[in-house]
Amino acid sequence: MSWQGIEGHDAVVDAFVGAQARNRVAGSYLFIGPAGVGKATFARKLAKALVCAAPRPGLVPCESCASCVQAEAGSHPDIDVVQKPEDRATIPLDTFIGDADHRMREGLCWRILLRPALGGRKVAIILDADHLSDEAANSLLKTLEEPPDGAVMILVGTALERQLPTIRSRCQIVRFGPLPEDAVFRILQREAEPGQTDERRLRACAAAAGGSLARARLLLDPALTEFRGRLAALLAHQPLHGVELARETLALVEAAGKDAPPRRARLRLVLESALDFLRAVLRRDTVGELPADPVMARGIAGWNGTAEEASTALLHTLDALDAVDRNANLTILIDAWTAILEEPRLAQST
Ligand SMILES: [Zn+2]
Repeated sequence: MSWQGIEGHDAVVDAFVGAQARNRVAGSYLFIGPAGVGKATFARKLAKALVCAAPRPGLVPCESCASCVQAEAGSHPDIDVVQKPEDRATIPLDTFIGDADHRMREGLCWRILLRPALGGRKVAIILDADHLSDEAANSLLKTLEEPPDGAVMILVGTALERQLPTIRSRCQIVRFGPLPEDAVFRILQREAEPGQTDERRLRACAAAAGGSLARARLLLDPALTEFRGRLAALLAHQPLHGVELARETLALVEAAGKDAPPRRARLRLVLESALDFLRAVLRRDTVGELPADPVMARGIAGWNGTAEEASTALLHTLDALDAVDRNANLTILIDAWTAILEEPRLAQST
């Protein structure tokens, strides 16, 4: 039985269970690991267990106290969750210390100083920690250094290099790996709607997800699975048809509707699939390893470029993926990404 339904992160669970048993839960944590592996979910489950009035051994929340009920409903007054606003490139300073008229009379750093409403402890979860503005990060340092008694701060980011050294040095680092394929499959199976339980299909989605549950969930949409194959075929052809790749990518993104988050999620999937493809090309050419994913295997068989072209395209695609997270205009981003893959020399003139 997995801890609170969390799959694939047993070592992290054990570390926290051990810390709790020794009464050594730290004040500030920085969760690091790839997107879509469940770090935010883990943080919320951990918060629930930490505020429970009567936790069972193994850091298991009782599920029946007032704290557990409110934590489960997402309305616990002592669990403070903040994240980057959808329309901003960074988490603004106001989030932590209030706006100019309410400095240190509002914001997360002020709220965490208040007495816990339910008498337990306070937990603050800062999602999107990769996107703290410098001034916002600086405003957090004192709280991270010395959180109030019993309070726990949890920052959730993807890469250690994306955090300021001043933040890193004040937090205990907790690393999350990609989810094992089997864990992704089990979660998909658990979540599946009746009629969506075709085991072979769920296994294929889990295999193509690269250890990310978020990706696996997207791939359940047949349009997205199909596009992966199409993308591999387009990328394999060098020189690339940039206009065609742009048109098809944009159509896929726009089919997600008007809301920004699902559009962004689709573009992220396209770029991550492109990375899968380019990495598979490089692995084949350097160590002779072939991808297990049949879509990628078919795709790279058609590759007619050089290893240098593949690694240049890989770097440009990583840049594009970064820009998606920084709230870039998606249409412009798609145009720029496909143009640079078609004509990498353009990059040197900018
Ligand atoms: Zn409880």
